[in-house]
Amino acid sequence: MLLGFQTELHPNKQQKTLLAKHAGVARHAWNWGLWLTRNILNHNHHNPDSKLKFPTAIDLHKLLVSMVKPKNYWYYEVSKCAPQYALRYLSLAWKRCFNKVSGQPKFKKKARDNSFTLDGSITVGFNRIKLPRIGWIKTYEILPGNVTLSSVTISKTADKWFVSFKIEAEPQITEKSVDVVGVDLGVKTLATLSTGEVFVGAKSLRKLQAKLSRLQYLNRHKIKFSSNWKKAQLKIAQLHSKIANIRKDTLHKLTTYLAKNHSQIVIEDLNVSGMMANHKLAKAVGSMGFYEFRRQLEYKCELYGSKLIIVDRWFPSSKTCSRCGTVKESLLLSERVFNCEHCNFSCDRDLNAALNLAMAGSLLRNASANVRVSLWTGQRRRCQIEARIEQIIIDLYRLS
Ligand SMILES: [Zn+2]
Repeated sequence: MLLGFQTELHPNKQQKTLLAKHAGVARHAWNWGLWLTRNILNHNHHNPDSKLKFPTAIDLHKLLVSMVKPKNYWYYEVSKCAPQYALRYLSLAWKRCFNKVSGQPKFKKKARDNSFTLDGSITVGFNRIKLPRIGWIKTYEILPGNVTLSSVTISKTADKWFVSFKIEAEPQITEKSVDVVGVDLGVKTLATLSTGEVFVGAKSLRKLQAKLSRLQYLNRHKIKFSSNWKKAQLKIAQLHSKIANIRKDTLHKLTTYLAKNHSQIVIEDLNVSGMMANHKLAKAVGSMGFYEFRRQLEYKCELYGSKLIIVDRWFPSSKTCSRCGTVKESLLLSERVFNCEHCNFSCDRDLNAALNLAMAGSLLRNASANVRVSLWTGQRRRCQIEARIEQIIIDLYRLS
């Protein structure tokens, strides 16, 4: 399987300038391509009888070489890969937009978008990497050995340059101590596992966030593009990336722990865009990064030989009693403790949801393997949950 690898580069002054030039050309090519394609779409919209062909990435590059390159000498100072890949990515972005996967591609800005892709003869050394047109650049970290790379992507975040590429990795199957685990991602705590374990998000985040909003507040009256403004802007960017790194790190620790020690991990397919519409939830949900959580779990489960089960988003994991299976009519977000009126069961709200997910997961697994384990008739809850899952599956078939 292919795994992503990213590490910080340690370029010298000339290399920094050269990297910035490459990123600048890539950005210029993207923005020019976007301007052109938007005009073509506009034209086609207003003239349905004389439509122009929508250009492919190759068409765009040909047009760029004949129209843009001769007028902008700095295109000749960088590798031709930089604009070529930018146009390829633009073409992919339009494809995603036409397939309604994402919105329209946007113009790139110097302050935010600094990245480009190179291919050709790339050599990986012990703690350095050789790139076409740029030469050997040192890295802070030791690079993986025995790799041949067809392409690398270089990017800049908060004044630091990074290189990223894909490497082939063998799965490392680990021995699992727990069979099935349900994971409930929460607003107050990062995650609650059905085994009773609780993962609290990084505590330092709130302090850093307060610092960030103070910096942004202090920066509000500085004259734009003045040197003091630039200094403050860099500080803000560095703090942003620090916060993002802490978040990523906690998520990585959680997902690695889950994938290494559990054979089956059951999570809920969360309707993130629906939750984002609720403003109170939006901040908490956005900061926890549910999509990132799922993405990490997907590849780590493959890497460590465990299985990820995603339960339908309409499964009432928090409203169901994990002891008797009674479903509540409503459950307020402020109710942190789940109390069942039917069997007087009381438990932490998130743990109750995690227990339900673990149970739903083991039932779904048996259903998909076509082996129906004879249910322990004494456990009414199991039957009830199974009936509900069947109903969900029936509903899904009716929809499709
Ligand atoms: Zn109950």
